[in-house]
Amino acid sequence: MDIVINNLSLLGIPHSDHIERRRNIHIGIKDGKIAYIGKDLPHGKININGVGSIGLPGLVDPHTHAIWGGSRAHEFSRRLSGTSYSQILEEGGGILSTVEKTREKDFFALHFHAQKRLHAMQKQGVTHFEIKSGYGLSPAAEHKLLSVANKLGQRYHVVPTFLGAHTIPREYRSNRSKYVEEIIKKQLPLCAPLAQCIDVYCDRGAFTLDESIAILKAGKKHGLKIKAHAEQNTHTGIARAAAELGAISVEHLEYAQENDIAAMKENGTVAVLLPGAQLYLKDRSPPVQALREAGVPMAIGTDLNPGSSPVFQLMTCATLACILQGVTIEEAILGITIHAGKAIGDPHAGKIQIDGPANLALFTPPPGDPVRLESLVQSMGYPSCQMTIQSGKIVHPEFA
Ligand SMILES: [Zn+2]
Repeated sequence: MDIVINNLSLLGIPHSDHIERRRNIHIGIKDGKIAYIGKDLPHGKININGVGSIGLPGLVDPHTHAIWGGSRAHEFSRRLSGTSYSQILEEGGGILSTVEKTREKDFFALHFHAQKRLHAMQKQGVTHFEIKSGYGLSPAAEHKLLSVANKLGQRYHVVPTFLGAHTIPREYRSNRSKYVEEIIKKQLPLCAPLAQCIDVYCDRGAFTLDESIAILKAGKKHGLKIKAHAEQNTHTGIARAAAELGAISVEHLEYAQENDIAAMKENGTVAVLLPGAQLYLKDRSPPVQALREAGVPMAIGTDLNPGSSPVFQLMTCATLACILQGVTIEEAILGITIHAGKAIGDPHAGKIQIDGPANLALFTPPPGDPVRLESLVQSMGYPSCQMTIQSGKIVHPEFA
């Protein structure tokens, strides 16, 4: 074996509806794959002591906007002093100000910061990232963002998503149909080869249901998998419409209704919960109990972005999903592993399988807490991830 993790105190193996817990076992990694899980200690070139540690698959963040230019920290202080997010938007702040700053930055500047962001998350056990474009909003700028995502994909597991329909850019505000046409006729042909998925932001103040459906259908023709920012601030019907188009995931869902959930169940669409955005925007909770009863898989993402969810900790989002949204600890772990893998359309992500890729994260609970999954989800901010292994290579700590 290339690497052996010996005497791992607890290994959590996610299955679609539960987590299998194996105690005091050894894991062997060879040629980038998990070659052995069991009680007989194999011989390894590198041996890692797993006593006191919890192993999980490398975590999967199914929803990020990790590539942007500029900062919106000044808006944060304005929001704290009572200015609403929509007022900031109307004044040209919010997404539009990030678009302006992102367009100014070149490929290298965007890549430099985005890689630092991913690196910080990798140190917390994340090996897979969905990354959306959407701060370019022109053919060239969207192409630039997806090129950065692809470059990051040489170092991390990245699923790039085209989100030209994030908002209507300033220059098209008086002629929105022209922008929808630009997305379909110019941005998509240029960007689709660099993306795996297409996403739309269908909401009050963003794209209408009809515009969103037209854009998603056009993306599907280019072979992209469908996602949607759905039912976040008001009910639009996009969750159901996207599910019926075969969406792999719909995300946010604060205002999702019963028929949306039925369509998601029917079409195998994953619900992506984003409790960071809910917290920052003081939104209401998505209908977790109804999703659970319907048997819709729930994933959890950071929604990492510079405004509504500047959140870098996926495990903290699992904690917030429990506290704010009512998911259970087991659902939370499934939400950042196997279900998040399904939400990004990667059949290997968030899983631990013999002969499958060796993406693993090892955690040590905070001092005094037992070696149980609850200990990881209960706390916020403790640097519990001691090692991240990606495709059989130790990527954190850097000098292992
Ligand atoms: Zn988002």
